[in-house]
Amino acid sequence: MTDRKAELAANLARVEERITRACVAAGRAREDVTLVVVTKTHPADDVRLLAELGVRHVAENRDQEAAPKAAACADLPLTWHFVGQLQTNKARSVARYADFVHSVDRPRLVTALSSAAEREGRRIGCLLQVALDRESGAAGQRGGVAPDGVGELAAELDAAVGLWAAGVMTVAPLSGPYAGRPRAAFDRLREISTRLRADHPAANMMSAGMSADLEEAVAAGATHVRIGSAVLGERPGLR
Ligand SMILES: *Cc1c(COP(=O)(O)O)cnc(C)c1O
Repeated sequence: MTDRKAELAANLARVEERITRACVAAGRAREDVTLVVVTKTHPADDVRLLAELGVRHVAENRDQEAAPKAAACADLPLTWHFVGQLQTNKARSVARYADFVHSVDRPRLVTALSSAAEREGRRIGCLLQVALDRESGAAGQRGGVAPDGVGELAAELDAAVGLWAAGVMTVAPLSGPYAGRPRAAFDRLREISTRLRADHPAANMMSAGMSADLEEAVAAGATHVRIGSAVLGERPGLR
């Protein structure tokens, strides 16, 4: 094994242990939580090593970086998740490789992704990114629809060709009533998820939890945790 592969294997084992412990503590089955490894800023070679180590879900947050990386890794048995804020003019590119987009937060993006998916002949799972730093009104600082806009956006997704409503996603807020309270934030997301599933039973993904707060997310019911630095190490530069 190369040094890098050994390092990634050791990090993966630590993250796996954290997820398993969190599942045990929450009385959940380990297989109910999917590890999505966020590979942003790290090279395609790392993605290849991760695939060799058994990782099956990877995520990226910028199309400029993700598109060539996904192309270089097209031979690998990977599911690609897009988790960054997405401009409508990147929808066509993202639709070529993303199986899931976690950052759907406005009607214009639904329209753009829908026509892109249709042209590419693909069907993309869309998660509604919820901004918990405000309960209503416009999107939060880091993107996201306010909780009271989720139902309407899900209805738009239902009507959109090439897309399906797959669930909800959030990033623990840095401001507002949930700042510094990831467990409370993820519990709130769980309520929003439960309400959404009443009308959209297929929308059962709850994407929450990063390297610093995966335990809180699993406790609150996350089905997908998005882990970057705990697997790949610190990112070069602040992202
Ligand atoms: C970078 C990123 C992550 C992973 O963050 P870490 O703290 O490195 O685990 C998760 N979600 C999103 C949306 C990200 O941009």
